[in-house]
Amino acid sequence: MNTNPATGQCLCGAVKFRISGDFESFFLCHCGRCRKDSGSAHSANLFSSTAKITWVSGEENTRTFQLSGSRHVKSFCLDCGSVLPVFQPEIGLLVVPAGSLDSQIDMRPDAHICCSSRAKWDKDLASIKEINGLPG
Ligand SMILES: [Zn+2]
Ligand SMILES: [Zn+2]
Repeated sequence: MNTNPATGQCLCGAVKFRISGDFESFFLCHCGRCRKDSGSAHSANLFSSTAKITWVSGEENTRTFQLSGSRHVKSFCLDCGSVLPVFQPEIGLLVVPAGSLDSQIDMRPDAHICCSSRAKWDKDLASIKEINGLPG
């Protein structure tokens, strides 16, 4: 569905990666765990059962955290805390945070998921005014 290789890096640039292979799905997850670990309304993750990740630099600068008793897993840069791709063995999928990519992807999210856990303020966000830059 999408043509790779895609490239990405963390905010501080210590960790860089390349992904070859196609993404099969793209979900915006509103569950409480994803809201907590992203600090935002939802996570935005691409999934692939076949894509391969190559760490271009800084693999030793990553840490993976799995919430005990759950399949919720995240990888992040030890210096800047940016969320990074992670292989999730239980489901056999490479999970790639869309925001970690530098390259553009020509894929739209498939769905909002876990919508029953949405934050109360996360409603009709498309109707909120848009500002091209910081509020003045
Ligand atoms: Zn970093
Ligand atoms: Zn979630």
